Amino acid sequence: MIKIDNTVMNNLKADVAIIGAGITGCAIARELSKYKIRTVVLEKEADVGWGTTKANSGLIHPGYAGDEGTLKLKMCHTGSLLFRKNAEELDIPMTNNGSMLNALRKNQIGELEHNLKQGKKYGVRGLKIIFNSNSSLKEIEPNISSSVLACLYSEEHYLISPYEAAIAIYENSKTNGVYYLLSSKVTGINYNNISKKFYIVALNTLGYLNKMCGKKIVVETDYIINAAGVFADEISEMAGDGFYSIKAVKGQYFLLDSEAHGFVRRPNFRISDPENIKSKGMVIGPTIDKNLLIGSTYEATDKYDNHTSAEVLEEIKEKFLQMFEEIPFDKVITSFTGLRAIADTGDFVLGPSKVNEKFINAAGIQSPGLTCAFLIAEMTVDFLEQKGLNLLKNSKYMPLRKKAVRLNKEDFMLNNALYEKDSNYSEIICRCEKVSRAEIIDAINKGATTLDGIKFRTRAGMGRCQGGYCTLKVMKILSKELGLPFNEITKSGEDSYIAGCKME
Ligand SMILES: Cc1cc2nc3c(=O)[nH]c(=O)nc-3n(C[C@H](O)[C@H](O)[C@H](O)COP(=O)(O)OP(=O)(O)OC[C@H]3O[C@@H](n4cnc5c(N)ncnc54)[C@H](O)[C@@H]3O)c2cc1C
Repeated sequence: MIKIDNTVMNNLKADVAIIGAGITGCAIARELSKYKIRTVVLEKEADVGWGTTKANSGLIHPGYAGDEGTLKLKMCHTGSLLFRKNAEELDIPMTNNGSMLNALRKNQIGELEHNLKQGKKYGVRGLKIIFNSNSSLKEIEPNISSSVLACLYSEEHYLISPYEAAIAIYENSKTNGVYYLLSSKVTGINYNNISKKFYIVALNTLGYLNKMCGKKIVVETDYIINAAGVFADEISEMAGDGFYSIKAVKGQYFLLDSEAHGFVRRPNFRISDPENIKSKGMVIGPTIDKNLLIGSTYEATDKYDNHTSAEVLEEIKEKFLQMFEEIPFDKVITSFTGLRAIADTGDFVLGPSKVNEKFINAAGIQSPGLTCAFLIAEMTVDFLEQKGLNLLKNSKYMPLRKKAVRLNKEDFMLNNALYEKDSNYSEIICRCEKVSRAEIIDAINKGATTLDGIKFRTRAGMGRCQGGYCTLKVMKILSKELGLPFNEITKSGEDSYIAGCKME
């Protein structure tokens, strides 16, 4: 499909250009790769999935919650079914042990009943209210507080790793011909009324040590998809469409060590307190990687605020101790923040712009955006077709992708075959997460160029010591495999050098 000479960064031609490589942009790119279409994705970060996609609860929601009349509610259940189908094709790990929405006060039982009724209306199966009589809740969730009065139990809540999902989609769409321009920040959009083409101007954001730094890239395209997360309103304005605005609403989390795994068996939601907006969307539950995740809050903020605060984290503790009295908070290994992209419409902003119908928004993708990613992708491609894009099937399209081969943490005997095939499997680089040199090299071969790129693909640096042991080792491997000087290795692109300094 598309063949682009990397040395000529000016004037790339595309049929469709997607701005933003989060889960939304990547899923749309993969959907487009089913057709003979030149698709270019522009992403300001050095890797995919580094916006909201990397910091959320990682849940594929069943579709019972949300405000009636919104796309968020209407799309969620179908989105979940479609996610599961695509996850199979892409070998995205998913686990499911149900979920519980817990009522701590009598006046919250109505909320359980409302969600039960709403879920049934949208086809969600396996929903039931369980009252806490004779310790019935302790039978299914042993550490739950006896002050929980009842729960809405849902069979259809799945856990995923959101960044792993984005990486899987990215790898598959690349195999199918999509071209990704990473470290490329869109700064302007022009439309030529005569040629009927958009000209997207982007700046290379690789740090000051890189020779491409600050270079301009121009992409000529017939259509634009705006999937730029919290910045989507700014991208829309560049195209003359200022019809909506997006505010960032942050959610803070605690992440607990794998030793705390098992304390809670499934996602347990807390019904928000109407008097405290910050308490919206709070959940404690296992992650797919066997940590324990606790959060998050709902706080309006600015689009660059990724900070956590001790005061708010204390409030989170307090709220959850009402539901689980013995949470092992001494096992916290880190805390982090995710930013929701909340449009002033209160809903997803999907479809062609009023100003130019070849500019399609996939914006305001707040929760359950992860769940709905593949459905949003299908809908976006339908919009493109309605607006004149010719969709000819790509006969070479490969739907399947295999996840990376990992050392087995539980059964070391199973690893012998790997050691025999490649001795790099026997050299452990990250001790906490048991990641070998071979896995890191594989991640680099599949697109990782930074420490974080390695971390999100292999988990090296995600364990108890948070990279204290392996950072230097991973940097050396990156330097060798990428053929880059050691001082040019970054944590996460741009100027995030660890050993870098400017050579005059
Ligand atoms: C706290 C929290 C919890 C959540 N929990 C869940 C959950 O459990 N289940 C669920 O379904 N959903 C959940 N969500 C929602 C879900 O995370 C988002 O809907 C989804 O990740 C949005 O993906 P996206 O690709 O639209 O945006 P993003 O991931 O933000 O991607 C947008 C991309 O655009 C890029 N970009 C921006 N500006 C430019 C530019 N000028 N040039 C080039 N690139 C640019 C960014 O760098 C970014 O990579 C949660 C969200 C939060 C914040």
